[in-house]
Amino acid sequence: MGMLLELILPTACGGCGLPGTGWCADCAAALDVPPVRVRPRMDPGVPCWALGPYRGPARRAVLAAKERGRRDLVEPLGVALAGGLARLRSVDRSLVLVPAPSRTAAARRRGGDPVLRTARVAARRLPESRVVPVLRVWRGVRDSVGLTPDERVHNLRGRVMTVPGFGTDWTLPVNAEVVVVDDVLTTGATVRESVRALARIGLPAQGVLVTCAA
Ligand SMILES: [Zn+2]
Repeated sequence: MGMLLELILPTACGGCGLPGTGWCADCAAALDVPPVRVRPRMDPGVPCWALGPYRGPARRAVLAAKERGRRDLVEPLGVALAGGLARLRSVDRSLVLVPAPSRTAAARRRGGDPVLRTARVAARRLPESRVVPVLRVWRGVRDSVGLTPDERVHNLRGRVMTVPGFGTDWTLPVNAEVVVVDDVLTTGATVRESVRALARIGLPAQGVLVTCAA
């Protein structure tokens, strides 16, 4: 089947390849689990959690959403993220989701930023929660695909920034929990730089939740 047709009508599960559905019940169940604590090499200084390891349905779905234009997978990935956040969050506090930044050109080429869109799906399903897409990467940062772990760290060091406007155009809800969300955690370089960039504008992240961790 050609890629164009698949974009319109997914005919196989994005997690396991089962024909006849875009996302099957088994893959949904595989991601509907308590997040596990992970410790990336580049410590962001806040607890990091993952819905699962970087293999199996989570990995396939994330890659299909990011690299192969399977926009239909944003919905189930967002549902899974919401499930993880519901288990991690404090019940009496509002929740602010900050998507880790994508390289702009890469996000554009892939038809929109799947991490941002996944976070929006998650926030819609959770009470008292919102997405604050405040992180950007500097132009000149290379796409991390194909880089070694050391190259990834060097590529991103000091190059995650926040968009202007915090405190003027928008403010943090009182007593909010701030969680950085991303699709894949490898070295931790992206989330570490993200947490640092948020700290620079006085927005302290309390944790990181990713769909899958390598
Ligand atoms: Zn499946």
